[in-house]
Amino acid sequence: MQKTISIVIPAYNEEDNLLVIVERLERILEGRGYAFEIILVDDGSKDKTLSVIKAMAQIKPNIFYIEFSRNFGHQPALKAGLDYAHGDCVISLDADLQHPPELIIQMLEKWEEGYEVVYTRRHEDKSLPYKKRVTSSLYYKLLNVLSDIEIESGTADFRLMDRKVVSVFKEFQENEPFIRGLVKWMGYKQFALDYVPSKRFSGNSKYNLKKMLRFATHGVTSFSIKPLYTAVYLGFIFSFLSLLYIPYVIHAFYIGKEVNGWASIIMTIVFFGGLQLIILGIIGIYIGKMFLQSKNRPNYIIRSSNLSLKENGVVEF
Ligand code: UDP
Ligand code: MG
Repeated sequence: MQKTISIVIPAYNEEDNLLVIVERLERILEGRGYAFEIILVDDGSKDKTLSVIKAMAQIKPNIFYIEFSRNFGHQPALKAGLDYAHGDCVISLDADLQHPPELIIQMLEKWEEGYEVVYTRRHEDKSLPYKKRVTSSLYYKLLNVLSDIEIESGTADFRLMDRKVVSVFKEFQENEPFIRGLVKWMGYKQFALDYVPSKRFSGNSKYNLKKMLRFATHGVTSFSIKPLYTAVYLGFIFSFLSLLYIPYVIHAFYIGKEVNGWASIIMTIVFFGGLQLIILGIIGIYIGKMFLQSKNRPNYIIRSSNLSLKENGVVEF
């Protein structure tokens, strides 16, 4: 039986990229003996992205769109695509052509060999802005130290997932899923392909520093509770150090040394004040996550789609 491939593309203000990427995908996939569908997720774009998508969907029966009620972010958009795709495998990639669609051919070969997840690693080369390269490699180092799964540097949301994997993934009820971490965590037979990223075809990156920092903290805190242990470890270290201070205090008392320690007291107060705030903040992040999770709100809200949706378009988990 002919296998179906679903392609999921999240798009936020990508009006000039979509026609190009769809055409490239069609050129790659046609004549390979697969049926394919392309699901374009409009993540509350402010430009003509939605009308471009709708126009394409009207002409071509295998193009589907999902329109969000507002901008929910890259990960929720990807999740929506995965939730609604019904292919035997699902391939996700960015709309800006930084993920070369030609790599899909190799992905499919690996899939046919029996791999259930084929993910990609960005080969860090000079074409990427210096800032992005450094922050990204530092980030993955930190993530691996702080969490229990190994995510390789440069892992992006450009991957193929078998139907089995997607079905399991759909059952996850996580608020703000960190998809690349979750997929790695799930196991299955995974294969990594390396690729050299292309330049963004048109438009600007949608990740500013603020969004990147958010994504970074989120990646760590949604995967590990190790940061919470910092309080315990630091507590032990400082209580031990303060024990060492006692003999000195007693000695000073007996020899009747003047109390003359304004600077050291201020230093200690400021230092421990800061430390306590940091640790409170870390605890706060986790409480915030519990708060959001307990509300059990959907990760995204769909305004319209040409896919069959549940009543009122709200996706339930
Ligand atoms: N994106 C999205 N919602 C957002 C931000 C980004 O759907 O709020 C999409 C965007 O259209 C692109 C992909 O996510 O297809 C990756 O975004 P971008 O290329 O801006 O990120 P970068 O490559 O700079 O990390
Ligand atoms: Mg990009």
